[in-house]
Amino acid sequence: MPLKKKDIRALTKEQLRDFFVSQGDKAFRGNQVYEWLWGKSLHTFDDMTNISKATREMLEENFVINHVEVDSMQRSNDGTIKNGIRLHDGLIVESVLIPTDTRTTACVSSQVGCSLDCKFCATARLKRMRNLNPDEIYDQVVAIDKQSRLYHQRKLSNIVFMGMGEPLMNYNNVLKAIDKITSPEGLGMSAKRITLSTSGVPKMIKKMADDEVKFNLAVSLHSAIDEVRTSIMPFNATFPLEDLADSLKYWYAKTKRKVTYEYVVWDGINDRKEDIKALVDFCKIIPAKVNLIEYNPIDDGEFQQASSRAIDSYISNLEMNDIVVNVRRSRGKDIDAACGQLANKS
Ligand code: SAH
Repeated sequence: MPLKKKDIRALTKEQLRDFFVSQGDKAFRGNQVYEWLWGKSLHTFDDMTNISKATREMLEENFVINHVEVDSMQRSNDGTIKNGIRLHDGLIVESVLIPTDTRTTACVSSQVGCSLDCKFCATARLKRMRNLNPDEIYDQVVAIDKQSRLYHQRKLSNIVFMGMGEPLMNYNNVLKAIDKITSPEGLGMSAKRITLSTSGVPKMIKKMADDEVKFNLAVSLHSAIDEVRTSIMPFNATFPLEDLADSLKYWYAKTKRKVTYEYVVWDGINDRKEDIKALVDFCKIIPAKVNLIEYNPIDDGEFQQASSRAIDSYISNLEMNDIVVNVRRSRGKDIDAACGQLANKS
């Protein structure tokens, strides 16, 4: 029976160099192939023009190059592009390109589906099927960067891990992908332009601090009152706000970096005075800013965006307490590409 070929992109540069040495070739050959695979994102051995034909054939016999394909693409009238990305095993995740006047942001997925159960999020309705590999995360960024150059004549400027999945439940692979994205041998992007968004897994936030990561942290808070938060984000029962706060203090002590809280205000859920007060208090735990996100409806109306009066009240109370607050308008709503709408509808 023929051996199952190994994915060459699962090898580190060192392993690739060792492989060539074991074949009686030069370690340097490993660097060349690595550059084709990562710096140039090549998907066929045949196109590696500085590698001899015999070596290319040898690689072909031993390895495959797993990679993703853009399976479907929808363009919104605001310039947002939603991609269905087909993985090598046929599963689909979604990645979004979000252009503004000054930047182009890629919103990427970290898992197929999601294991969390946020009541307001479309992705939560798909069960978690599997984690993405580092190269599958990296490839989404490469695909969006290409689109940014093609449709907006500029390279990708920012990345947010706000697509499908909970990045801190696939931490090792997300970290490996970010290492490659920021490495000069990969895309050479600055970690400062990358934001990981999490529902808040305390143990993993501490781990990120210990690992001295250089990218930004955003936490999807939505309520600073346990009872309310548990009702809309049931996993809060396992990771209550006290533990979250504790991990954030640890994060700040180690990194000295602010956190961003993402927050949607819903009618009759978190639009009371005490909800606002709880958020203001929570923002005093460590330096923080708040992004108020517009709600993108996903269902039959259980959740409704709060009135602009309620939202204004949030803004004025936060500002009175010197907390920076931004209001984030939805992008790509007409093609179900906005936050919380990623659910492989097609
Ligand atoms: N699991 C991660 C990343 C994916 S969700 C996290 O929870 O942060 C990305 C952001 O979209 C989160 O802030 C999430 O709370 C928000 N979101 C989810 N559903 C939404 C919806 N229907 N409308 C607006 N924002 C939503």
